[in-house]
Amino acid sequence: HAKNHGKGHLAEFNAQLGADSLRRMTMERKLKEAIRRDEFFLNFQPQYDLASRSIVGVEVLLRWQNEELGLVPPGLFIPVAEQSRIILDIGHWVLEQAMSQNLAWGRAGLPMLPMAVNLSALQVHQHDFDEQVTNLLRQHAYPADRLELELTESVIMDNAIPVLRQLEQLRSSGVRISIDDFGTGYSNLGYLSRFPLDVLKIDRSFITHIHEQPQQQQIVQAIVQLARAFDLQLVAEGVEQEAELAFLSSLGVERVQGYLLARPLSASQMAELLGGQKGVA
Ligand code: C2E
Ligand code: MG
Ligand code: MG
Ligand code: MG
Repeated sequence: HAKNHGKGHLAEFNAQLGADSLRRMTMERKLKEAIRRDEFFLNFQPQYDLASRSIVGVEVLLRWQNEELGLVPPGLFIPVAEQSRIILDIGHWVLEQAMSQNLAWGRAGLPMLPMAVNLSALQVHQHDFDEQVTNLLRQHAYPADRLELELTESVIMDNAIPVLRQLEQLRSSGVRISIDDFGTGYSNLGYLSRFPLDVLKIDRSFITHIHEQPQQQQIVQAIVQLARAFDLQLVAEGVEQEAELAFLSSLGVERVQGYLLARPLSASQMAELLGGQKGVA
């Protein structure tokens, strides 16, 4: 059988490589048209105050529905969009849509909660990123304190100084800055004291089964201490069980997000949920 020969392996490997790059090229071509063809939409996942279980924020999650590819998960298309730089246009579209949606909810008499938007490294590394965001805020008359920008540690760490300046600029206008997937990235925590930050989002890997995992408990406890020391808010991501929630409560984590409380929702589902929250925040 060919598998037993070196050449066979190589042929198989090449075929696989060819298939992968073909799939990538196809996806890239379709991504380039996706905004114009109106194939993107947003989902919204509520964040809850743990004690009162009221909604205190919303994370915006991008979705791509393509005729041939179906609903493509962001974990698949975002890397392709980043490598081809299409993410710059997509990211701008997400920011603008998120603002428009929140303003529409406000006009409909629903509470305008802070919207957390995920950013790619490429977006933040543009020299005029802060101006782009400020311009959008101005154009839409969108209240800056209703926007939270989620970055990962790696986004901050490469190109640290230009990014630092941009974030300082944005934060001085009232935008909140959040570190996503906290604990999975850079191990040098010095940036916590140098960067203008508001929120740490504890990665789901530390939250899953925390009630029965002493090592995860130690890590989250240390993160709680860090957050107190640097005066940062904490959000626990990916809460799926009541037992996890109870444990997070005992550690003093205040904000939670996860399937237990709500899955990512469509705009109309989110509006319905916000309707039951009138008067909050
Ligand atoms: P993230 O920002 O860490 O978002 C959290 C992910 O965890 C989301 O996956 C969400 O649906 C999922 N999640 C929430 N609660 C639970 C839970 O209880 N259990 C489990 N197992 N999962 C949960 P999603 O929507 O597939 O997004 C994946 C990643 O794609 C996001 O991770 C984010 O890094 C990226 N992404 C999503 N939207 C955008 C965007 O507009 N721009 C950029 N640059 N990245 C985005
Ligand atoms: Mg996020
Ligand atoms: Mg992330
Ligand atoms: Mg995350």
